[in-house]
Amino acid sequence: MTVRTRFAPSPTGYLHVGGARTALYAWAYARHLGGKFILRIEDTDLERSTDASVQAILDGMNWLGLDWDEGPFFQMQRLARYREIAERLIEQGHAYWCYASRDELEVMREAQRARGEKPRYDGRWRPENARHLGLVAPKDRPGVLRFRNPDDGDVAWNDTVKGPISIANRELDDLVILRADGVPTYNFGVVVDDLDMGITDVIRGDDHVNNTPRQINIFRAIGADLPRFGHVPMILGSDGERLSKRHGAVSVMQYPEEGFLPEALLNYLARLGWSHGNDEVFSLAQFVEWFDLAHVSRSPAQFNTEKLAWLNQHYMKAASLSRLAQGVVSCLAGQGVVVADNAPLEAIVALLRERASTVVELAQAARLFVVPAEPDAALLALHITDESRPALAALLDALTGIADADWAAPRIGEQFAAVLKAHGLKMPRLAIPARVAIFGTTQTPAIDQALALAGRDRVLSQLARYAR
Ligand code: GLU
Repeated sequence: MTVRTRFAPSPTGYLHVGGARTALYAWAYARHLGGKFILRIEDTDLERSTDASVQAILDGMNWLGLDWDEGPFFQMQRLARYREIAERLIEQGHAYWCYASRDELEVMREAQRARGEKPRYDGRWRPENARHLGLVAPKDRPGVLRFRNPDDGDVAWNDTVKGPISIANRELDDLVILRADGVPTYNFGVVVDDLDMGITDVIRGDDHVNNTPRQINIFRAIGADLPRFGHVPMILGSDGERLSKRHGAVSVMQYPEEGFLPEALLNYLARLGWSHGNDEVFSLAQFVEWFDLAHVSRSPAQFNTEKLAWLNQHYMKAASLSRLAQGVVSCLAGQGVVVADNAPLEAIVALLRERASTVVELAQAARLFVVPAEPDAALLALHITDESRPALAALLDALTGIADADWAAPRIGEQFAAVLKAHGLKMPRLAIPARVAIFGTTQTPAIDQALALAGRDRVLSQLARYAR
């Protein structure tokens, strides 16, 4: 049988990196086995399921390159189908309408707590109990549909990540499966969907491990075969708490904004909670070839921003100059800086990328060459002095002697060295004033390369302004 996996996010406004990792594993599992990967949007929370928050999920998936074979399916478009299965469950005695009001249920729970019991629905609207208690369905309000959970026995499954798990049915109460408005609750919608979509392997976060026995009971009541279930441990922040906004970027689409490459985030997420020997750096294709559930870790993984930055730096070194240059252009565009068509951006990027771990850092460094700044008064006062001015003038003369066609780091370096020697200066005594004059800052890459990239015109005109 062909393997079919799915990713079934509930829109929250963004694609969480934890969700993205679950999606990546489900996707890789299907791809590894030549199966299908299905995308389903669990949009029953109408307040959160806006077009924008659905789009945020699609954007995240697309940016990562996690393609799906079927879907996206939307639960809100499948209400009739949930209703149909619900009717069948009612007919077969697996579900019943419950009319207990919120207040009534609160009183019930209070009493249970007072008796030292765990609060749970007491089954008062199970047909035989309702009859016994003389309960009559009110005419003025609809009920909710509850699943009649088996009273005895255990629910057991062999989790494809965590191994055997078993839960006693007496721990489970009769769950609401259809709300009064006809919208299914999570555990019911997910079962009907996984069934209809022919899912063979449910791979999801282990925050759902407690839902699985309920879902298994519903599958059984419907008379359907069970998929395999695998629960992937959570991602934690550096403090051991569940990864959340206060640990940094949790939204996938924040990563391109911060200058990360998708292959870096994919590699990072792939390795976070799964391992293949000591391999740390691998492509997505390699991951698909290696991926298995047996090597998914059973314990939570800690998100490590430095390691991600390290991987990003690695992939930036491997990326083509034109791609990085494009990244720089759009990053600068976001800052309102338009890069001229003739800017030697690829050469700039080649010089700077070794020292940048994100495209944003790279753009920050490149900005110097794209829109050179004028030095401010404080820098001028500090560095353009009676001592440096004559040396800058000598530098101007020396560099003027280089023809435009020969304007390159080695020739510039030679002239620079000659001026240092003639004026008895150490490198920084000239390089720093020159940087201030030409770039408006004391920090640039190696001076010969920086001047080469800045271009002859800019260098000579700026030196002329400040040398005399
Ligand atoms: N909508 C659920 C979530 O986002 C999906 C859980 C599942 O995969 O069954 O957590």
